[in-house]
Amino acid sequence: MPELPEVETSRRGIAPHIEGRRIVAVHVRERRLRWNLSEDVDQRLTGATIGKVGRRAKYLLIDTSGGTAILHLGMSGSVYVVDAGTPAGIHDHFDLELDSGKMLRYRDPRRFGSLHVANVPLEHPLLARLGPEPLGPELTGTYLWARSRGRRLAVKPFIMTSQIVVGVGNIYASESLFLAGIHPKRAAGRVALERYERLADAIRQVLEKAIHAGGTTLRDFYGSDGEAGYFKHELAVYDRAGKPCIRCGQPIVSAVIGQRASYYCRTCQT
Ligand SMILES: [Zn+2]
Repeated sequence: MPELPEVETSRRGIAPHIEGRRIVAVHVRERRLRWNLSEDVDQRLTGATIGKVGRRAKYLLIDTSGGTAILHLGMSGSVYVVDAGTPAGIHDHFDLELDSGKMLRYRDPRRFGSLHVANVPLEHPLLARLGPEPLGPELTGTYLWARSRGRRLAVKPFIMTSQIVVGVGNIYASESLFLAGIHPKRAAGRVALERYERLADAIRQVLEKAIHAGGTTLRDFYGSDGEAGYFKHELAVYDRAGKPCIRCGQPIVSAVIGQRASYYCRTCQT
């Protein structure tokens, strides 16, 4: 599933190909995505000029003169740039054809992605209630500490709650808690301020490292097979059950916390 680093990598990958271009045609082959793709979207985007390509949480925000396109990649979506007229595969659901002779193409085998257009994207129901960005200045130890007081919820699902902070998916939550030395089952309300300072730093570090790793795939966004944007990176604990902890050598354990597979070191995380 594309996580925040993949979405950010996609943003950086497509931006130079589409910013400043005019959309000369919108080709839709499949409207049944997570929500039906409204024909209003085609109408508003056709003829519009693209401004900046931004991101909020895992949504790509493509500013255009017809409104901001809010694109979510769902479970299996990807965007890539191809020459106009390139034959579409069965999972290539729509294209934005540009005046440059290229097209931004959306592929999504499982069709859990979505595309909306809004005048004020941050007030759109999909975005209005989201917590701060993990890489922005609002995510601090003090913020996490204040939001967690009195909460008995385990710290791992707490930091995976999008109203608290966006973009900390299951892998990144496990990795950040390991880096910060915090046991994932500890009640969020019982984590001290100084440890939340470490955790906020760890979240940033883990996500930035993943984005940096994704940067090496940027050249693939044009003319690729559409799989670019997903990448493997080094993980300290995630999916390493039974293997030695990179810090102390004890076996990494796995447990289900908040219905999600979790990995941690019983010695290094307390
Ligand atoms: Zn350890």
